[in-house]
Amino acid sequence: LLHSVMEGQKLKVVSHLAASISHEVRNPLTVSRGFLQLIDGDLEDKEKKEYMKLAITELDRATEIINDYLTFAKPYPESVERIDVISEVNHSISVIQPLASMMNVSINAKIDLPSAYMHSEKRKFQQCLLNFSKNAIEAMPNGGTLTIETTRQHNELKISIQDTGIGMTEEQLCRIGEPFFTTKEKGTGLGMMVSHSIVKGMGGELLYKSEPGMGTTVHLVFQVEDVD
Ligand code: ADP
Ligand code: MG
Repeated sequence: LLHSVMEGQKLKVVSHLAASISHEVRNPLTVSRGFLQLIDGDLEDKEKKEYMKLAITELDRATEIINDYLTFAKPYPESVERIDVISEVNHSISVIQPLASMMNVSINAKIDLPSAYMHSEKRKFQQCLLNFSKNAIEAMPNGGTLTIETTRQHNELKISIQDTGIGMTEEQLCRIGEPFFTTKEKGTGLGMMVSHSIVKGMGGELLYKSEPGMGTTVHLVFQVEDVD
């Protein structure tokens, strides 16, 4: 027993360390990228310009890996707290709005419920909402509509994230969430692995409905507290 308690503490240390490293690493990545772009502007040599492009692409890849894992991670311990799922969903919509606008995606939010409470780690929940919404937007390279809807039946709260994008084949649906499974040129294939495990850790259920060329809907179902 003692051994497993110690292992648990080690794991905690590792996850806090990961959070602070991501915090500390993101800045130098951004700064380096800025300088490379500056130098790139002065380069004439075609070959050197090509190397520069590769260097920037690789920096972006490192940043994306951190983003899929640790966007909201903070270098101090996280705690489970009573969160209002509805206000967290609303918050995630405001976070994703700029990316949606940039990609010509309009957001249709149907969040007309009162508060619904559950116990969870806020940042992890935000991370997973962000990863699902980001995928939805990335599935619509020519724009479209992202519909985010919450419905409640007794103690079950359902969050649906729907896009009008490229959809998935049966085979892709089977593999989604597998580490490093990606169909994107610059994908990490880590976003869904992380998000599925967060949903599971929260005791939630997850269901995809998808059709190639039509779009995808992700349903997340969580148990929430009784209304009093
Ligand atoms: P990444 O986004 O870096 O590719 P993810 O783990 O987030 O990695 O997603 C894995 C793969 O699942 C994506 O590359 C894509 O093929 C598929 N996918 C996930 N969400 C959607 C979606 N809403 N529409 C279409 N395909 C999706
Ligand atoms: Mg992703």
